[in-house]
Amino acid sequence: MIATGIGWDVHRLVAGRPLILGGVRVESELGLEGHSDADVLTHAVIDALLGAIGAGDVGEHFPDTDEQWRGADSLELLRHVDALIAERGYHVVNVDATVILERPKLGEHKQAMRERLAAALELGPDRVNVKATRGEGLGFLGRVEGAAALAIATVEAPAAQ
Ligand code: MG
Repeated sequence: MIATGIGWDVHRLVAGRPLILGGVRVESELGLEGHSDADVLTHAVIDALLGAIGAGDVGEHFPDTDEQWRGADSLELLRHVDALIAERGYHVVNVDATVILERPKLGEHKQAMRERLAAALELGPDRVNVKATRGEGLGFLGRVEGAAALAIATVEAPAAQ
């Protein structure tokens, strides 16, 4: 059986924080605020995968009230999810994701992001796609107040017993 899940995340853009997307540090005046490294792209991917295996959401697994996850590398959280997927007998078919960020442009970083995400999931980079788009000056994304990401994951479920 094939199962799918969706993920969506938003983080505020602030001065004095690094901008980390898909585990890649991107040069920027503003970075993302959050309890962990605030990697909005990786969080959306995690939620999509947890959704696909019916395992809740990122907040349940890695609560922002837990000191263990303060400043956490979100790729490390993704590796935890990869282990959970394997434990439950699922295989990831593919992940597709979109980051929405007004600036800087992410084109030159997309390949590195897909490689990092795929490596954390022990997949070839062709199984993880990363797209980038802008807010076109509209709303909180366009005003550079935040960044958002959405993702969809497809997994192959274990054979029915
Ligand atoms: Mg998040």
